[in-house]
Amino acid sequence: MAGITKVGFDSAKSRKLMELSSEIIPGGVNSPVRAFKSVGGTPKFIAKGNGAYLYDVDGNKYLDFCNSWGPLILGHVDKDVVAAVKAQIDKGMTFGASTELEYDLAKFIVQHVDVVEKIRFVSSGTEAVMSAIRVARGFTKRDLILKFDGCYHGHCDHLLVKAGSGLATFGQPSSAGVPEAITSQTAVLPLDDEDALQEFFAKHGDELAAVIIEGIPANNGLLIQRHDYMRLLRALTERHGALLILDEVITGFRLGMGGAAAYYGIRPDLVTYGKIIGGGMPVGAFGGRADIMNMLSPLGPVYQAGTLSGNPVAMTAGLATLKKLADGKIYKDLEEKNRRFVTLLMEQLRDNLVNVAGVGSIYWIVFQNDLPRAAHTISTDGISHYNRMHSKILDQGIYLPPSGYEVCFLSAAHTDELLEQAASILATAIKKEAHVWA
Ligand SMILES: *Cc1c(COP(=O)(O)O)cnc(C)c1O
Repeated sequence: MAGITKVGFDSAKSRKLMELSSEIIPGGVNSPVRAFKSVGGTPKFIAKGNGAYLYDVDGNKYLDFCNSWGPLILGHVDKDVVAAVKAQIDKGMTFGASTELEYDLAKFIVQHVDVVEKIRFVSSGTEAVMSAIRVARGFTKRDLILKFDGCYHGHCDHLLVKAGSGLATFGQPSSAGVPEAITSQTAVLPLDDEDALQEFFAKHGDELAAVIIEGIPANNGLLIQRHDYMRLLRALTERHGALLILDEVITGFRLGMGGAAAYYGIRPDLVTYGKIIGGGMPVGAFGGRADIMNMLSPLGPVYQAGTLSGNPVAMTAGLATLKKLADGKIYKDLEEKNRRFVTLLMEQLRDNLVNVAGVGSIYWIVFQNDLPRAAHTISTDGISHYNRMHSKILDQGIYLPPSGYEVCFLSAAHTDELLEQAASILATAIKKEAHVWA
């Protein structure tokens, strides 16, 4: 049936698979948020995807706003990406030696992204960030790094750091198993606070190897930063000889070819990629100034390596995806669709204490009457309203990310017609929840 339809089947198979998986995989999942802990209900086991839709093992169909957490900007099973991957698989899946495909994808990125003079591929966003931090430390010969409360950069040890209550805090691991000795070299500041930034740099700027910030923070709500704030951050890092690492794992090739760097009009020293550049395959990359990247082994003293780095199938999927995005038409179209969708949703939500943040092809529903720009201004009450609403929306045939802190992604497969239908389904559910709340 065309369009969004209510879920027609019980989740018996998903429930059973979750039970079985839980016996041998911790929590039944290979990445925690998939377990639906925040939103409750049975996590859906997915059988297949197609265009804008996900299909679960029980035969239910969902309009997908998660898109594998961002990579699938073209939607599921894009025919050109799939054809390219199939052709590559026939020639081999990995060689442990260089291929022309690595050069092709590197060349494509270097040609299209101003700030990337040299690039190296890895297998995940986490690995990209971890390597960028190492090369930044190697280059500056300093250890201290600064991150922001509300930014996620993957699960490497030195970035799993809690934000304390003070202005700048050091070294409280946010996960068991992370030694304080490691996180003591990581400082955390709130986003969107110029004074905190100035004060920190005055005290510690000259010890700082690098500042890492998400292109547009989108892992803890969609915290769109002010241009002035980002420019100040660039100016301060430059003045103190610290590197600016823009983590573009989400925003890279999502906000257009130039990512968040182009959006803000700033020039970071290093950028990290993942998600979209793999076209659905596991890939990460880090790149930027040639003088910094030349510190890497075998040219320089900073060690970094990977058995499957630059994997030919992943390079192929990434290149096939990026080529379709290169002329900018898809970005323009996605941006317009997202703007119409957010406007439509907001019109229907007027007076309901709910807001929708949107940028590029990303949106975020937030149960509060302002749009937060820093993590500590997100209403935890609001998040629990989203979480309660989640399973009701799921039953209506819309797959939203299973946490109020996660953002939604549009893909090229989302038509205006589907988005109009989705907006009215979402507005009805949100109004009900907001009414309960008010
Ligand atoms: C997803 C993400 C990462 C981690 O990437 P993985 O591939 O999950 O390791 C890092 N930084 C940002 C901004 C991300 O969104």
